[in-house]
Amino acid sequence: MSRAVYPGSFDPITRGHLNIIERALDMYDGLVVLLAVNPDKRSTFTDEENLAMIREATSHWPQVEVDATDGLLVDYARAHGIRQAVRGLRAVTDFESEFSMALMNRSLWEEFDTVYLMTSAEYMYLRSSTVKQVAEHGGDVSRFVPPGVERRLRERFGQA
Ligand code: ADP
Repeated sequence: MSRAVYPGSFDPITRGHLNIIERALDMYDGLVVLLAVNPDKRSTFTDEENLAMIREATSHWPQVEVDATDGLLVDYARAHGIRQAVRGLRAVTDFESEFSMALMNRSLWEEFDTVYLMTSAEYMYLRSSTVKQVAEHGGDVSRFVPPGVERRLRERFGQA
């Protein structure tokens, strides 16, 4: 069975992330959506909130597993017998940091590879931070996030 891991901050999960997940499911039998817990990166939602939103948004895909790690991606992958990560690319600006991360991961574990999926054009400008800014200023984010996330953004930032 082919499995991959899709790591990220997912703070919170957006329709851009879900698009990558859906397309990765065409390529793999199973996918672990992995919340990377990074104590240095201040998140808007707690890890528990972000995990709950990911679980809710992916519950209709039985091939998706949701998990979190505060360790290295390659350590998690090795422990779970997974040799590929999936990441999304929105624009050239994503490229440099993704390139160094992929090379670093492969230098930590030479059998580990990262597979990149190009964004779908409609999600090209979609990122969690932008969605939060729009929600904070009362804008409608229903096109950008699943309903459970929209509700939590409203609870956090007030009614649109
Ligand atoms: P990170 O902090 O690890 O970059 P993100 O949650 O911002 O985590 O993103 C996780 C992955 O999903 C990254 O590879 C990112 O490029 C990708 N991604 C996020 N939004 C989109 C989008 N709209 N289209 C394609 N890929 C996306």
